[in-house]
Amino acid sequence: VFEYVTRAPDIPVYAVMVAYREDPSPFKLNLGIGVYRTEEGKPLLLNVVRKAEKLLVNELSANKEYLPITGLAEFNKLSAKLIFGADSSAIMENRVTTVHCLSGSGSLRIGAEFLAKHYHQRTVYMSQPTYANHPNFFVAAGITVKTYRYYDPTTCGLDFQGMLEDLGAASSGAIVLLQTCGHNPTGVDPNLEQWEQIRKLMRLKGLLPFFDCAYQGFVSSSLDADAQPVRMFVADGGECLTALSYSKIMGLYAERVGALSIVCKTADVASRVESQLKLIIRPMYSNPPIHGASIVTAILKDSPSIVTVILTYREMYGEWITELKAMTNRITSMRQQLYNALHDRAIPGDWSHITKQVGMFSLTGLNAEQVAFLTKEYHIYMSSDGRINLAGLSAKTVPYLADAIHAAVTH
Ligand code: PLP
Repeated sequence: VFEYVTRAPDIPVYAVMVAYREDPSPFKLNLGIGVYRTEEGKPLLLNVVRKAEKLLVNELSANKEYLPITGLAEFNKLSAKLIFGADSSAIMENRVTTVHCLSGSGSLRIGAEFLAKHYHQRTVYMSQPTYANHPNFFVAAGITVKTYRYYDPTTCGLDFQGMLEDLGAASSGAIVLLQTCGHNPTGVDPNLEQWEQIRKLMRLKGLLPFFDCAYQGFVSSSLDADAQPVRMFVADGGECLTALSYSKIMGLYAERVGALSIVCKTADVASRVESQLKLIIRPMYSNPPIHGASIVTAILKDSPSIVTVILTYREMYGEWITELKAMTNRITSMRQQLYNALHDRAIPGDWSHITKQVGMFSLTGLNAEQVAFLTKEYHIYMSSDGRINLAGLSAKTVPYLADAIHAAVTH
């Protein structure tokens, strides 16, 4: 009965990963996949995560019973606080509903499904370009995807005017997907004054903001500063959605832990929204897994209900911030080192965007042909749009990449 199933195309980022794995060259370099790597090129398991896991094994894991449909209640509260701030009036007024989902992807998917069922507008606008999986979450829910201008290839920076024009021309009430900080794939974020103009325009037109927060703390290494765009929208009293991911910021990729929040106008609406989210989640996977959310909860918790022999909760939070800062600082240092190496080689072109862009990614400005050259001649892997993951670099590999870019640009 399945003879007629046609083969689906490969998913580009995974195809790059497979090609890298199969390459026998000792010089090969993977700058494709969006995960953090240490200076030695290894995956990083945060020390604070190890400690939280020990704590869970020793003290907290009394059982593996099902969680409620909306997940671990304490995790939801802490996640809302992380993104909206401890003093958020929306939280205090119970106008936020937060559900524990399967990481950022699951939060976006559940959010899209909710909007398809309960929101009057079925069009979403997303930046051009955006994270490759973004359109899929909405298309799968039956929502029409359109784009707004965002990236200016001539400056490798923000096309702010284009963005305002396209949002200004968007159909009234449309959903707008925004990336809170550390934009994937461009590394280009609006500044706070620009965010304020975006906010005013969107509120004027009744556009609904849906924030993807996958890199909070990866830009300024201040969780509060990085969440500022979201908080500006929440402070005006209007609605918004947020999809928070712990994959990158706690290195919990495979635990699939994240949270969808919907900020509403009143507590009553928020509780009705939550009741509908339950109906969406129940037939999909019934309830989320407990382990990753318990780790996050142990780290974020600020009032120690149990003072442990390992560490008190507050110390764990501090330790997380230190490790988060170390990741962010290493990425920033890679940006500077790469820029210096490109500059030293007097490679044609202006490479200052490498240090102007922020977060884990840089859209380098290399074209598909140059990327193919880098892969063929230098065994350097990245997506064909020229996006590199700066965390895939080290002091040792930066000169090799700069030499390769020199050859790609001048050959
Ligand atoms: N959003 C953005 C912008 C991303 O870059 C990613 C992953 O790379 C995700 C969401 C989804 O990640 P996860 O499902 O692991 O949270």
